[in-house]
Amino acid sequence: MPSPVKQIADLIRRTDHFLVASHANPDGDAIGSTVALGHILAALGKDFCLYNISGLPSQFDWLTLPAPFHDCLCGAEANWIFVLDCGSEHRVGPELHQIMASRPMANVDHHLGNPNFGQFNWVDESYPAVAAMMADLADELGVPLTGPLAEAVYLGIATDTGFFTFDNTDPRVMELAARLIRLGLKPGAVNAKIRNQWTVDRFRLWAVSFATLEMFYGGRVAVAHVTREMMAKTGTSAADCEEIVNFLRRLRGTRAAVILREEPDGAFKFSLRSTGTDNVQTVAARFDGGGHRNAAGGTIADSLESAKKRLMQALGEALGLV
Ligand code: 5GP
Ligand code: MN
Repeated sequence: MPSPVKQIADLIRRTDHFLVASHANPDGDAIGSTVALGHILAALGKDFCLYNISGLPSQFDWLTLPAPFHDCLCGAEANWIFVLDCGSEHRVGPELHQIMASRPMANVDHHLGNPNFGQFNWVDESYPAVAAMMADLADELGVPLTGPLAEAVYLGIATDTGFFTFDNTDPRVMELAARLIRLGLKPGAVNAKIRNQWTVDRFRLWAVSFATLEMFYGGRVAVAHVTREMMAKTGTSAADCEEIVNFLRRLRGTRAAVILREEPDGAFKFSLRSTGTDNVQTVAARFDGGGHRNAAGGTIADSLESAKKRLMQALGEALGLV
């Protein structure tokens, strides 16, 4: 049996017309891997369309795109749908999810507990980012890792490893980064493009969110929240909440950090962060969420106070704090 990357490469060689999609509220790896696959398909002369239900967040507008990014379902006649970086199929959003069952779909992902929802599944938790899987695919297809493709790959691997600081930073991803640099990528310039994208509005939102900080279990768990009202008042959106939780984790003595963000329907999207053997994926899974051992999330349809309480109970049990 050929390896999954060889099978995907074969599939791409013998097919045309692809729809490439990733999860709602896309992060750097979701966008990086989508754009990277687009560049690979473009280099091979394939027909494809790039879709995300949230569109392309403005913080990524420096990327050189291989094709326009659609926030309305495109590629209605696509022969294959590529779903990237989605631990579960509903994360693509309802629009695409509705038609997914009737189409051949390739599920390319690195999340723990991905249920292999595609007709074809390349799910490998040993990859720190789906963008790194795209780099292997480019190698397999003979597409050089240079220019905008290299920048898209770098975006995914840098953001999903916390700029090479999380436990998933392994020799393989450092070697990939080194190879991109050898092939001409300018790390200083690209990192500046990735990181220096903050608006004053976002700064103000972080200030009010940090002000909600609460410490539980004698300082071992840090929790903050963002409400719809806070976002409305500061003129911000869900994308501006990304990363807040990573900063909570920086508080000395914490083992886990939690942010709860109110969704348009009033439910609370939560994000969990930990380090080392402290597993927060199991906590997220208890609320039908998922993710990785040290970074996981999900949604709780409940009041803020009750959602917080339930999460604290589950976290306390998982970390042996109760
Ligand atoms: P974040 O907390 O930054 O949104 O996500 C952290 C990790 O958990 C990511 O790998 C993300 O894909 C995963 N994750 C976040 N929310 C959900 C969810 O509702 N369901 C699943 N299965 N995974 C999630
Ligand atoms: Mn990812």
